[in-house]
Amino acid sequence: MIAEIIAAGSEMLTPFRQDTNSLYLTDGLNDLGVQVAFKTIVGDNFAHLTSAAAIAINRADVIVFSGGLGPTEDDLTREAVAAALNITLQPNPAILAQLYKRFAARQMVMPPNNAKQADVLEGAIVLDNPNGSAPGQFLDTSIDTAIPDADGKQQPIRKIVILLPGPPKELKPLFDTQVKPRLASSLPPRHLAKRMLRMALIPESHVDARTAPIYKQYSDIETTILAGAGEIQLHFLCAKPTLAEAQQRVDDLTEKIEAEMEDTIFSSNGESLEEVVLLHLGMRHLTLATAESCTGGLLAQRLTAIAGSSRYFLGGAVVYSDALKTTFADVPADLVATKGPVSAEVARALAEGIRTRTGASLGISITGIAGPGPGAPGPDAEKPIGLVYIALADAQDTQVKEFRLMGDRERVRWWASQHALELIRHHIL
Ligand code: ATP
Repeated sequence: MIAEIIAAGSEMLTPFRQDTNSLYLTDGLNDLGVQVAFKTIVGDNFAHLTSAAAIAINRADVIVFSGGLGPTEDDLTREAVAAALNITLQPNPAILAQLYKRFAARQMVMPPNNAKQADVLEGAIVLDNPNGSAPGQFLDTSIDTAIPDADGKQQPIRKIVILLPGPPKELKPLFDTQVKPRLASSLPPRHLAKRMLRMALIPESHVDARTAPIYKQYSDIETTILAGAGEIQLHFLCAKPTLAEAQQRVDDLTEKIEAEMEDTIFSSNGESLEEVVLLHLGMRHLTLATAESCTGGLLAQRLTAIAGSSRYFLGGAVVYSDALKTTFADVPADLVATKGPVSAEVARALAEGIRTRTGASLGISITGIAGPGPGAPGPDAEKPIGLVYIALADAQDTQVKEFRLMGDRERVRWWASQHALELIRHHIL
């Protein structure tokens, strides 16, 4: 059972408006065990809409249209769907009366154009729209297959076609209160279970090479690998007649992937890396302080974005200038002058200094050359862009790591914060 969503509206083919309705609809369809296989955005053009509708009706079981139900010339969804299904539109007297009433209540005469909002697909159920003038429509129908069966007969295939108004504050309540219950009672019970595994700082190809032999054995689970921003996500989706069955399958696969990838997985339930780090700090009753140079507080920002972080994250300093490395984290001025601010020695002194100054259990520092220009004149002048040192100090010891990060300033800064979080996580583990 697969669905296609068609968002009608030329404005969504411009750089100024986005189709957000389909995200909402996808979530709701997934709740019912229906997977969205296709999404189409199509402009207000009868021929284009009709061809998009015909393709969708041919390839999906549930087709949801959003928008194009208004009264104007370019609101063409009803007409295009009728043409694609080769059925008629019939004026619905109750809707028409309702439209006249809406205009009369505002002491206005209804323009003739509005009458088309009362046109209903032959056989469709009308979905009342208390928040606007265009009602939705729900059509449970069947079409003949293009390919005849072994006996040369064309078999009918069931299709559910749903028309919804475009404005989100009309579409959402209509979908929740009138479409979802109808779909739930007319579709075979299907439940979706989802799991997401997250890994940091590991190439996508490595993850795929190690996990594909496992997830390929689960043909009833849809696996998607998403890569970006120093993180790989593995998404598993499984539909079964009961939620327990679906959950059992994804949990089973998750367990096998966890055994293969071990502690490269930082989260099996969707938490972010910073959330996981805070969770680990909390479990061990540890506190953390930061001293950041090239990341300018990005690490502290990521940690403080998590509610409740104040229990484990004490705070930190943005020690961008050489002088502040000394003032805020007690880094000896001659060390900065001789080794350069981007050096293993300064990273170490920063982590130890901020830890001592704040009284935190752990001190972490980041210093590096984020680019696009080279390091400051002096010992750093010849050091390459992307060179980053991260140090982590506890009461016993300090570890310092050197990284050569690729990419532009934003990427270097983000990856540095990502490496810092991973360093803390691995240290606590
Ligand atoms: P109306 O009676 O308001 O004209 P309609 O069903 O014809 O309803 P549209 O004219 O297509 O809807 O869209 C009305 C407004 O709803 C758009 O200007 C846009 O702001 C919003 N909208 C339409 N489609 C979407 C979408 N897919 N995602 C988000 N917003 C949308």
